[in-house]
Amino acid sequence: MERLLDGYRRFRAGAWPERRRLFEALADAGQAPRAMILSCADSRVDPGMIFDAGPGELFVVRNVASLAPPYAPDNAYHGTSAALEFGVRVLLVSDILVMGHALCGGIRALREGVPAEAGDFVASWIRIAAPALRASLACDDGTDPQLRCEQEAVKLTLRNLMTFPWIAERVAEGALRLHGAHFDIRSGALRLLGDDGAFAQAPG
Ligand SMILES: [Zn+2]
Repeated sequence: MERLLDGYRRFRAGAWPERRRLFEALADAGQAPRAMILSCADSRVDPGMIFDAGPGELFVVRNVASLAPPYAPDNAYHGTSAALEFGVRVLLVSDILVMGHALCGGIRALREGVPAEAGDFVASWIRIAAPALRASLACDDGTDPQLRCEQEAVKLTLRNLMTFPWIAERVAEGALRLHGAHFDIRSGALRLLGDDGAFAQAPG
């Protein structure tokens, strides 16, 4: 906790005075982010840092393995679906980027088994990505199986997003674009999913 408070003091002394007017404007006008990021909760993958974005620019939802479940408007506690609904239907974001990443512990648990201590929720959550695991095993092209599964999970999440009727409608209207990406922690490089189904390094 002390380290958190040390960081807060640095924020108040450094970033806050520089950005005070921006925060005040965002408080008065409300947020209007154009992009939504669906990313992993992994502490090494920070969308704000990777995209060099400031306050008010990105609407971010993070969960284990950057997954979205299929559309299921039941009475369960759908945190990620709630964030999608708010981002798409209320904030009217124009882009959603699903960002998987290298060395993802959630995907590793899917491939190798969930730690015994994480059976209450993680196990059922990452089962969302079971079709991605099957796809990655079916296409053994000699690449790293962990990477293949991480990338297949991004594609699966994009397909799951299209099961949300208000996402599919806005995509059909051209008002919303969906993107896939994979971030490599060691190199800091971002790969973007292309129309050909392959991930290619983003310029820069
Ligand atoms: Zn992860």
